[in-house]
Amino acid sequence: MSVLDRLGVVRRINAAGTLTRLGGRPMAPEVAAAMAEVATVSLDIADLQQVAGDRIAALLGAEAAMVTTGASAALTLAAAACLTGSDLARMAALPFTDAFPNEILLPRTHRTMYSRALSLAGARLIDLGHNDRGTGAGVRGLEAWEIDAAITPRTAAFAFTATPETIADLPAIAAHCRARGIPLIVDAAAQLPPRENLRRLIALGADLVCFSGGKAIGGPQASGILAGRADLVGSALAQQLDMDIRVEAWSPPPLLAQILHGRAPPHGIGRGFKAGKEEIIGLLVALERFVAADEAAERASLERRLRAIAAALGGLVGVDAELLHGGRAPQLAITLEPLERARAAVTRLLAHSPPVHVGERRVAQGVLLIDPQALAPEDDAELAAALRAALALG
Ligand SMILES: *Cc1c(COP(=O)(O)O)cnc(C)c1O
Repeated sequence: MSVLDRLGVVRRINAAGTLTRLGGRPMAPEVAAAMAEVATVSLDIADLQQVAGDRIAALLGAEAAMVTTGASAALTLAAAACLTGSDLARMAALPFTDAFPNEILLPRTHRTMYSRALSLAGARLIDLGHNDRGTGAGVRGLEAWEIDAAITPRTAAFAFTATPETIADLPAIAAHCRARGIPLIVDAAAQLPPRENLRRLIALGADLVCFSGGKAIGGPQASGILAGRADLVGSALAQQLDMDIRVEAWSPPPLLAQILHGRAPPHGIGRGFKAGKEEIIGLLVALERFVAADEAAERASLERRLRAIAAALGGLVGVDAELLHGGRAPQLAITLEPLERARAAVTRLLAHSPPVHVGERRVAQGVLLIDPQALAPEDDAELAAALRAALALG
């Protein structure tokens, strides 16, 4: 009997994408096998972080990298590193930061629900600019003088949320921050595919970049990447690892040795979200597969599956299924008339056995989104049947 059956946990059909709350993208068997292999042995986590970090850094074109327990944890560690540098007393003080520079600048248009991961380290977020483009009120974005006016002796970092729309602003902001000695943290959690983005953000000037391991990369759900400047990644790693060591008996790997100089901080702000050996290996193996994959072939296969699902909805009144090509992965947009039908359809799909999850981002406009990135191919037929039944009811 499977453990889920024994526990009575309900399996779900996930057509909503790589959502963390639904377990992200299911892992490839090779990734799960690598995690199982490392689960049964003892090894030094700091050494493993160094080995994995070196490989990840090479793939990203970064000075250094480490495995975190997700992009959110990577943001907290990035903020911690910018607040403390290699200062052990500051590491020990977090999250209390009154005695040193503790402000992180953040364009208003870049604030997300994940921005609080930055404040978790003890940073104060300073909102910059306005949202005229977002609201349609005007044409102006964040300007250099606004950044200059916000930089004070208390500034510790600048935070940037990468999206296809914001990425064009990155080089200018990076150059501006660099000239003023302000490290730039980029949240690129879900900016994959395309795999070029793994290298692009660093190449455009990010000092630190954060990716989620449990989304498109297909690593463990509790995994992510923090990559960038070696001094900052080293500081982040020191604040994540178990530090219950005797310094004289400890030989830290190079990334830590270069910032600790024979000293060691107490347990850091990231001690509660340490990456285990399973996450570190799982993320690395998943990333190597992600980088080696044939993106065009994977995309074509997802499109074929979505077309088959769309075909199964043919003939329903007031139902229009359209393949969307623009996003990170193809999606099927199912537009319903009248638009109130969309909410009712979501409720019916969740009541289906097994429950069916679809993308709800455009439900208010009468649109259900089918995102196939985390959808098991063997669930396609059942998804199509459940959609047809839910939509046939009007
Ligand atoms: C998903 C996401 C995160 C969090 O990623 P986890 O790996 O689940 O911690 C952070 N920022 C953005 C923009 C995201 O989309």
